[in-house]
Amino acid sequence: MYRWEPHIPRGSLLCVVESSCCEEFILCSEDSQFFVRRRAANGGHEQTARGPYARAAKAWIELSSGHQHAAKVAS
Ligand SMILES: [Zn+2]
Repeated sequence: MYRWEPHIPRGSLLCVVESSCCEEFILCSEDSQFFVRRRAANGGHEQTARGPYARAAKAWIELSSGHQHAAKVAS
């Protein structure tokens, strides 16, 4: 569905645009390009391909809307 690649900082400021609950998926911008970042299993970060805002925002909405709280107990 989405291709994840290791997040490699490019030396410029990483801006957080939106963060899903629990910060599972974070919509970021860097060098005027946008991507979704998430925590990788190895403790680092992974990101989707960099691109225009509309594409990254769509990916972020789709990813974060599928997010569920594993630990949350229904009351
Ligand atoms: Zn959550």
